[in-house]
Amino acid sequence: MVTVDGKEQKDTRLFRHLKKWLEKAVMDFEMIEEGDRVLVGLSGGADSFVLLDLLDSPMIFVPKFSFVAVNIDMGFDPSYMSYDTLGKHLRENNYAYVMEKTDIGVAAHSDFNKKNPCFLCSRLRRKRIFEIAAAERCNKIAFAHHRDDVVETLLINMFYGREISTMMPRQRIFGGRMHIIRPLVYLREELVKKYCRERQFPVVENRCPSAKTSKRIYVKNLLDELTKNNKKIRENIFKAMSHVRPDYLLPLSKKM
Ligand code: SF4
Repeated sequence: MVTVDGKEQKDTRLFRHLKKWLEKAVMDFEMIEEGDRVLVGLSGGADSFVLLDLLDSPMIFVPKFSFVAVNIDMGFDPSYMSYDTLGKHLRENNYAYVMEKTDIGVAAHSDFNKKNPCFLCSRLRRKRIFEIAAAERCNKIAFAHHRDDVVETLLINMFYGREISTMMPRQRIFGGRMHIIRPLVYLREELVKKYCRERQFPVVENRCPSAKTSKRIYVKNLLDELTKNNKKIRENIFKAMSHVRPDYLLPLSKKM
């Protein structure tokens, strides 16, 4: 535990704020039930460290559950430095964990698939995560997507997928045998990153060659630009997803 002036960093105002909203999201969307076993995805990015840390804190309202942290190394770093860093963090904090070295990221960028590496990459990674969840007897899979990810996904799906949809806070998969949950759904990215800095988590660099050129980065930059004129733009888009007025959309039968 990191301390400043002898005080545990975890009990900060920011921690309490994030924890309160995480618990609210978990309760609002019934993400966790008594006895659940949750696979917590740990990519090594700030968001995933924060998710793991917040779930590993005493909960006031959330029923008792157990969890296992899972990292899938995508194979971008041949020295596996980030793999070792994550392993050290997990061991030092006594987490139950599974780590796996793969070549998923590299394969997704091979010549036959250069045009759309993200599609294959996320598909293969998901597949492996589902397999590990089954092997670890997890019925919930927690991803560290926050409010900004949900907003960006809505725009990506509209801009490139011609549909109005986004990531769901709780998503039923395999006929209800498992659920994907997103406990950070109410949290702003800015605060998640701030908490990560506050706790000095050993964030590892994302070495994916597509990381800086993805559609997500384009949409993120676009939203940053729009935020200069309207600071509430992300919040407004997020809230708009709960205020849908179907009568003012195009009729479903009119295919275009
Ligand atoms: S940005 Fe890189 S790591 Fe992320 S999904 Fe795309 S290819 Fe995979």
